[in-house]
Amino acid sequence: MKRRTLLVGPPGSGKGTHAKRISSRFKIPHVATGDMLRAEVAAATTLGLAVRDVMEGGDLVPDELVLEIVTTRLSQPDASRGWLLDGFPRTIPQALALDDRMGSRGIDLVLTLEVPRAEIVGRISGRRSCSSGHVFHVDADPPRREGFCDFDGETLFQRQDDRPEVVLSRLEVYERETEPLLGHYRTSGRLVEVDGSGPPGEVYARVEAVFLDRTDG
Ligand code: ADP
Repeated sequence: MKRRTLLVGPPGSGKGTHAKRISSRFKIPHVATGDMLRAEVAAATTLGLAVRDVMEGGDLVPDELVLEIVTTRLSQPDASRGWLLDGFPRTIPQALALDDRMGSRGIDLVLTLEVPRAEIVGRISGRRSCSSGHVFHVDADPPRREGFCDFDGETLFQRQDDRPEVVLSRLEVYERETEPLLGHYRTSGRLVEVDGSGPPGEVYARVEAVFLDRTDG
């Protein structure tokens, strides 16, 4: 049994939230390039120092750097039975490199979450995160104690790239660089579009139904 799957969608579309649940439900690793890159920045590694400013400004990290971390991650033993990629690929060259690596069988499912722009801006501006990657929303999903993570008590902060002035430019980057990927996957019959608006539980149910229907188990 293998599930090689991608979650594609604009920033704030809920990819991370649903990916975590899909990952535990289907026992496949959740490979989130944004989380991996933020961990490099937090640890001040050479890679982290090289990408920090680009990320904080809401731009994309160069393809070759992202490709390297993804390739390394997918060659680990826990990825041999499948995976869910979140935040990768984000450009046509990244998608072509992934197709190349996957060979003839390729990717089983590309699921995209569709959310209206106005809803996205509200979701991102209210998002608060802890350094371990737990995520809350000041109105929709507030922590029990304001400013602190429910899971580990760490301080919550707003990601630099979640500041309102950066959000709109991230959406533009998404539309310019990433949306064209949908056409690439649609023509090869791998794309399923899911309505990502509404309460998270309802969206998750739609996402899970697609996974059950479109990947083997
Ligand atoms: P979101 O989906 O909310 O925009 P992510 O956590 O997926 O956020 O990504 C945050 C940032 O990490 C991106 O704005 C970009 O700078 C960098 N990044 C993540 N994945 C990639 C990728 N595949 N290619 C280039 N840059 C990436």
